[in-house]
Amino acid sequence: MTEIIFYLSHAKSGKSICRHCNKFIQKDMLRIGKRVPNPRDVHDEGWGDITLYHHVACMFEEFDKETSRAKQIKSPDDMFGFDELKKDEKKTILKLIRDTNIKREDNSLHQFSCLCTKISEEDGHAGKTALVSDYLKKGTTGTGFKGDVYMLMKFLLTGVVKTWNSLSDRVLVDLFSQIFGTSQKAMEEDLAQTEVWEIIRVCYEKSKTVTPLEESSVSLRETQGFLNVLPTAPEPVTVLKKLVNRCTSNDLMMVVRLIKHNIGINAEAKTILDGLHPNAYEAFQISEDLKDVVERVQSKTLHRLPGMKKKMKEKTKKNTEHVAEQRRSGSSDNMDLGISKKKSPVKRQAKDEGQTIPSKKCKTARSPSPSMSKIFTGCKIFLPVATDKFKELKQYIIDFDGEVLDESRKRLATHIVSSKGRIRAGVSKAEVVTPDWLWQSIKKKQLASTKEFKP
Ligand SMILES: [Zn+2]
Repeated sequence: MTEIIFYLSHAKSGKSICRHCNKFIQKDMLRIGKRVPNPRDVHDEGWGDITLYHHVACMFEEFDKETSRAKQIKSPDDMFGFDELKKDEKKTILKLIRDTNIKREDNSLHQFSCLCTKISEEDGHAGKTALVSDYLKKGTTGTGFKGDVYMLMKFLLTGVVKTWNSLSDRVLVDLFSQIFGTSQKAMEEDLAQTEVWEIIRVCYEKSKTVTPLEESSVSLRETQGFLNVLPTAPEPVTVLKKLVNRCTSNDLMMVVRLIKHNIGINAEAKTILDGLHPNAYEAFQISEDLKDVVERVQSKTLHRLPGMKKKMKEKTKKNTEHVAEQRRSGSSDNMDLGISKKKSPVKRQAKDEGQTIPSKKCKTARSPSPSMSKIFTGCKIFLPVATDKFKELKQYIIDFDGEVLDESRKRLATHIVSSKGRIRAGVSKAEVVTPDWLWQSIKKKQLASTKEFKP
C-alpha cells in the first residue's frame, strides 16, 4: 500500500489557513491535512514533511485542479482519522469521495473515447445529438454528469474550437518512432495506407521499449495539459514519453486523434451543441465563445446574450418556412433554404458561403464550421491519405456533411477516390472517382457527375 499522506483532524486554534481558499479554518472545524515534503528543502537535506491544511470541501476541489496522477483521496482508507469521525462528518466525506470519483470518471479520456465511438456509430444528426444530451444528463453512472461540461464540449468540438495546435503526421511518426524504438521509415511508409493514429496505436502495442497500460486513468484535463505544451515544447519527446507512460494503446490513439483535430465522430458543431441545449448552436454562432455558451446554458441566461433574440426569431421563421416549403413541394431535399437569401450574422459563415475556390483553412482560428451546404450528404468516401491536399479535402467532406472512411471501413464506401485508378477488382461496388470530382463538387456546391471524373 502507498503511504497515507492525508490526515483528518479538528482545527485546534483557528489559526491555520486553507491552502485552497486562503481563508482561516475556524476552531474545531474538521480539516484535512496533506503531508508533503518541505518545498524549501531544495537540496534534500531531510528537513522533513510539512502539513498543508484544507477545508474538507476545499481539499476535494483542489483534486480537480491536479492531474489524476497526483495522490488523491479515493476511499476512506486513504486518510488517517476517518474512523474517529462523527457520523455526520463521515457521511459528508463519503459523499465528497463518491462525487469526486464520478466526476473523475465523467471527465476521463476513456469515457470520452467511448462516447466518441458511440457518436461515430450513430448515423443521423438527431441520434448523435441525443447521445451528447444523454451523457450530459446522466454521466457515466446514470446518476447525473458530475464532470466539467465545458471541458467535455471543448473536446467534442475539437475540430471546431481548436485550442491546441496540430502536428504533422511526419513529425508525429518521427517522435513516436523514437519512443517506441520502431523504424521511422516503416511507419512513414504505412502513412500512405493508414491513418497516423492507427499506426501509432499498433506500434505502441508492439513496442519493445514501452508497454501500454492495461487500465486507463488519464483525465481530459491532464490530456489538455499535454496537448497545450506539446507543439511548442523544446523537447517534445520528453513530453510525449510522460504521456505514453500514462496511456493504454486506445488512450494514445485518441490523444493522437485529438492532436490531429479529428476524433472521427462525423458530427458538425450544430449536432454536438444541440446536445448541450437546443439554442446553444445559435448562441455559439453569435459569440464564438464556447465557455460563455456553456456558462449561459448552466445559469439559464442564454436568452440574454446580445443578438440572441434576433437570432431566435430568424430560427423560428426559418423553421416555419422550411416546414411550409416541405409541405408545398412534398420534399425535404432543399437544405439550403433561406440561408443563401439572407445575410448571415456570423462573419465567418458569410465568408464560407461566398467561397468558391477552396482555400487553406486557418488551423488556429476558432471557426464555428457552419456547414450549411450538405453537398456530400449520404456519401461515404474512402479518401487515401496519399491524396494531394488530403487534409483539406477531408475537412471539406466532413464540413459538407459527408463521411470519410479509413481503410478498415473501405468496404462500406459509396465513393472511392483514386488518383491513379489502381483499385483491386471486386473490392466494393463503390464509384471510383478522381480527387477532382471532390473539388468540382465543393466548387459548385453540389455533387458533380461522377462520369467526367473517372481515373
Ligand atoms: Zn478552504
